[in-house]
Amino acid sequence: MQYISTRGGMEPTAFCETLLEGLAPDGGLAVPAELPSVEAATLESWRALDYADLATEVIGLFATDIPRDELERMTHAAYSAENFPNGLVPLRDIDGGITLVGLSEGPTLAFKDMAMQFLGQVMEYALARRGTTLNIVGATSGDTGSAAEHAFRGKDRINVFMLSPQGRMSSFQRAQMYSLADENIHNIAVEGVFDDAQNLVKALSNDLEFKRGHNLGAVNSINLARITSQVVYYFWAWLRATDRSGAQEVSVTVPSGNFGNILAGYFAKSMGVPIRRLVLAANENNVLDEFFRTGIYRPRAAAQTLATSSPSMDISKASNLERFLFDLLGRDAERMNSAWRELDETGSIDFTSELPRLTGEFGFGSGTSTHADRLATIQGVYEATGDIIDPHTADGVKVARDYVEDGVPMLVMETAKPAKFQETITEAIGVTIPLSDELKQMLEAPQHVVEMAADEKALRDYVSANAVR
Ligand SMILES: *Cc1c(COP(=O)(O)O)cnc(C)c1O
Repeated sequence: MQYISTRGGMEPTAFCETLLEGLAPDGGLAVPAELPSVEAATLESWRALDYADLATEVIGLFATDIPRDELERMTHAAYSAENFPNGLVPLRDIDGGITLVGLSEGPTLAFKDMAMQFLGQVMEYALARRGTTLNIVGATSGDTGSAAEHAFRGKDRINVFMLSPQGRMSSFQRAQMYSLADENIHNIAVEGVFDDAQNLVKALSNDLEFKRGHNLGAVNSINLARITSQVVYYFWAWLRATDRSGAQEVSVTVPSGNFGNILAGYFAKSMGVPIRRLVLAANENNVLDEFFRTGIYRPRAAAQTLATSSPSMDISKASNLERFLFDLLGRDAERMNSAWRELDETGSIDFTSELPRLTGEFGFGSGTSTHADRLATIQGVYEATGDIIDPHTADGVKVARDYVEDGVPMLVMETAKPAKFQETITEAIGVTIPLSDELKQMLEAPQHVVEMAADEKALRDYVSANAVR
């Protein structure tokens, strides 16, 4: 399997090479030259596999340059009972014909662990194979950063520089990152919103000389290995849902921000997993909902990004959308480049002529959920079932309710645990979720973070001074 760039300017590259880069050298994103396809009989033959073995099969279709025994070792290390003490990706029913897919049972209580735990393994492997080191520079709106830091802490070939928007994360998210005392972990709180932080990261990795000179890499949601490891749980969710109901197709609703999770769902569907509808749930920052409803893609300025009670979805410009647009535009890099020119010149891209294909051929649905919707949904689910869901998952459940169809299980990706977002839970149902001793200690631990203006030079200097060589 080879990888190419959405902008057409990269020689086909193998998986392990691609995973060590962020953006492609032409500013585009790496995508499979051709998506693998999985026959129905093969899919059926995977029904008896445990999660790690399923991951070996699915990731193995993408990472064809890794020997199978190595891959198996890594999937078992990543998807272990130690990392996921409550089991891997359990499904549970709530009310209204909806089933939650438990993606947030890992060390940081959010779904990012699903990809990041594997990424920690495979990066270490690829770096050792190449005999080199890596300075990961990433931007996070909360969960990516902590999942990355927990996956990479203490690894000696790797340093992590994680930028986060000052004052825009929950105290729990901050503690999860800033309490880490490992020397290879650098927390940087940037003045501004997530997009300001992400733009700084992009500026650094677009500077090829600096990037090469410092062995820079990325683990934010544009990292291709993350997308591929997320594809696995769509296979898993389909297998488990059809074990139980005998249904043939499922629909899946995905609380979305940077379009990474749902892109993995789109890949799984394209590869042959019988997914009827892929429903995108947005919060008030609903650029993507607007795109799927109207065909107009109009990213917002960072200053127009609202700070909401589902903060990990507070995105105004979803980087991974480019990977889907590449397919929408017939995998034509010329059309892709001219679409981005249109965006630069006019501030939006008009895909209205493709609108019927978005919902028809590609099967997307979408919707927006507000703070009031989140509260009402958390409350409704709690009253009906006693189950407490987090605000992001609540956005998913709210939007999913409009797409429930008879005979088609509606799966909603549970992207975080409610304990991470106490304030909103208390506001919704007046309940405080008891914290384990471990979590209490984390919240009280000293914090390690430097504050920085949204200034490229300041970041450059800091990374230069602290990089692993
Ligand atoms: C990251 C995140 C999302 C958004 O996922 P994307 O892959 O960026 O679309 C949703 N919910 C939670 C809790 C997250 O951490």
